[in-house]
Parts: sequence; C-alpha cells; structure tokens
Amino acid sequence: MSLVAEKLRSVEARIYAAAVRAGRAPASVRLVAVTKTVPVEFVVEAAQAGAKILGENRVQEALSKKPELDRLKAATHEAGLPSPPVWHLIGPLQKNKARQAVGEFDLIHSLESIELAREIDRQAKKKGIIQKALLEINIASEETKHGIRPEEAAGFVKEASAFGNLKIIGLMCVPPAANDPEKSRPYFKEMNRLAAELALEGFDMTELSMGMSQDFEAAVEEGATLVRVGTAIFGSRA
Ligand SMILES: *Cc1c(COP(=O)(O)O)cnc(C)c1O
Repeated sequence: MSLVAEKLRSVEARIYAAAVRAGRAPASVRLVAVTKTVPVEFVVEAAQAGAKILGENRVQEALSKKPELDRLKAATHEAGLPSPPVWHLIGPLQKNKARQAVGEFDLIHSLESIELAREIDRQAKKKGIIQKALLEINIASEETKHGIRPEEAAGFVKEASAFGNLKIIGLMCVPPAANDPEKSRPYFKEMNRLAAELALEGFDMTELSMGMSQDFEAAVEEGATLVRVGTAIFGSRA
C-alpha cells in the first residue's frame, strides 16, 4: 500500500471512530481529501485508494489536475471499479472565475456574497445545470476571515433561494487556527446550532462542512457531514 493510501485509511478510521463515539452513523460523514499543492501523482494514488471527494482551493489548480483523474475515471469505468472521485471547491472563489468553476465542481463550499451567488446562478443557467454550494460562515466573526457573519446567514439563504440555478445545501466554516481541537469545538457546536436553526426555518441544511487535519474528530463529534483534510493525508505543504 502507498503511504498516501495508508494515511487515507488512518484518517478514515479516525472519522469512523469519532462518529461512533458521538453515536452517529459513520456513513453520515464524508471525507474531502484536500489536494491543494499536492502533485497529481499523489492525487491519483488517493483516488486509487478510494478517495471519493477531492478538495481544491483554486479553480485553475483543480482544472490542471482533472485530465489525469479523468483518464483514471475512464480506466476504472472500463474495469467496472467503483466511481472515481468528484471535485469540491473549498477556497475563496472570485466572481470572475465563477464561469470556469460552475459545473466543474460538485459542490462549492465557499459562497460568501450575494454578488457571487448571483454570478454562479447566471453561469449555471447558461450551462443548463444546478450548482450546489455551501454558505461559508465567519463563525468567530474575525475581521480578516472570509465568510458571512452568523447573524446574517438566515437573510442570505432567504435571498439566495430566489436563484433557480444555485442550490444552497448547508454551511461551511474555517474557525480560527488552533493547535488544540478543543479550541475549535465551541465554533463547531455553534455551526451545528446555526444549521439546526436554519433547518427549522425550512432551509436545506443537509451538509455541514467543518474540521481539518488538526480538529476533524471534534468536528465529527459536533455534527460535521464533510471534513476537509489535507496535511494528515498528504503531509505538510511546502
Ligand atoms: C487547506 C485547507 C484545508 C485542509 O487543511 P489541512 O490542515 O491541511 O487539513 C481545509 N479547508 C480549507 C478551506 C483549506 O484551505
């Protein structure tokens, strides 16, 4: 087994254990293997080891890796193997890149302005598809962070529900960087509470994207359905 495959297995086992600890169905949590800056040969190794979702921060970088993964897709299809991975965009999306991003990513985790929502909707309409996205929440209300403030989430989702070709299916956050996962836990709890509140108002809150290499187990315990893990699978980035 490759080193990437071994580490992927280990992260999957930790997700499974955290879900069980929290009394959740392990299948309700999916792993996004974050491949930013990772050379495509290791991304292919992860796919061959069974990674189902690949996460990239930049549209261009993802598009540059896609052809290689598409070749793998064709090959696994011929061999009757399980479906190869889909791509998620997890990093900030500039409005002028929306055209390239729409349709290439199964899910955009980083929706953070109505202008961006409008542009994604417009591009999706042109392509005749429905683009799924998560609303990025600036959960600690940090000055420098992407995302919208928790108290603005309900208004945003309501406004965005007018867009016919954009479908918001949940929330995402990147809490303040911390070495101790227990520092992230209160933010994860707060995200869960916010999602529950929006669900009560009738909004689709299927997905909760939270948790990275440092704190994904705490995120699973607090209700994450998607965890985004890079370093723990591919090693530290240069
Ligand atoms: C890089 C990145 C991750 C993965 O971080 P690791 O600490 O390497 O697991 C997750 N989410 C976002 C938004 C990122 O930019």
